[in-house]
Amino acid sequence: MLKGKVAVVTGGTRGIGFAIVKKYLENGATVVLCGSRQETADKAVKELKEINPNYNVGGIGLDLNNPEEVEKQFNRIKDQYGSLDILVNNAGISQRESIYDLKPEEFDNILELNVNAMFYCSQVAAKIMKPQGGGVILNTSSMVSIYGQSTGVGYPTSKFAVNGMTKSLARELGKDNIRVNAVAPGVTNTDMVKALPDEIIKPLIATIPLGRVGEPEDVANAFLYLASDMASYVTGEILSVDGAARS
Ligand code: NAD
Repeated sequence: MLKGKVAVVTGGTRGIGFAIVKKYLENGATVVLCGSRQETADKAVKELKEINPNYNVGGIGLDLNNPEEVEKQFNRIKDQYGSLDILVNNAGISQRESIYDLKPEEFDNILELNVNAMFYCSQVAAKIMKPQGGGVILNTSSMVSIYGQSTGVGYPTSKFAVNGMTKSLARELGKDNIRVNAVAPGVTNTDMVKALPDEIIKPLIATIPLGRVGEPEDVANAFLYLASDMASYVTGEILSVDGAARS
């Protein structure tokens, strides 16, 4: 479904991002995954090459909060592979402290990665995609972007902003044939969730109509659809992949 496409996936070293990278490779894309450190990016690339040595995959450590560095690396990727067709803004951090304890700098840190970095990456990608005739920008939102969460105000605040950026950029970039969409995962079985004890996870599952947490592959499938030509007339959409946990 993505043969001949070049994709960049931030936060691609593990969890949901890693599943997206794998799904894109299985579907014929060339993928550059970004992690916060070169070692974790290298480790992820090694793991993927062990699955299939023919995968066209590279990995870079990239400080997403440094706009000059993002610009340099994305342009280098475009020069090396010939285009940048798909950007997945997936890197994100979460936070659960109560407003009574949350320090201003911790609030800033969440927005800095989950929102500002998404803006830097999208801006550079759009500048590359416009002259090449189009592209796709996809963002990882969250089910908390629908109704907030009861503690940890920074995280849902950032994900509401992700939805706003997604819908606004879809409107602004449509004329340049750049589609912009987001996926809003529910509770997904990444390392963080795997570490939760039964007494937390069981009542949580009881609130999900589909009766289970999501797998990273459930989420990656939505990212595949939205990146592909199957979604050629879909833009400005926030696609929930949460077993209806939001309702
Ligand atoms: P994870 O912690 O397993 O992976 C996070 C990724 O982001 C890693 O690849 C890491 O290298 C990267 N990253 C973290 N800080 C970074 C930084 N400062 N600079 C560059 N990269 C950085 O997380 P995950 O659960 O796979 O989450 C991925 C995305 O999905 C996030 O945006 C998260 O908000 C969202 N999400 C996750 C869940 C869930 O239940 N796991 C639910 C809804 C949304």
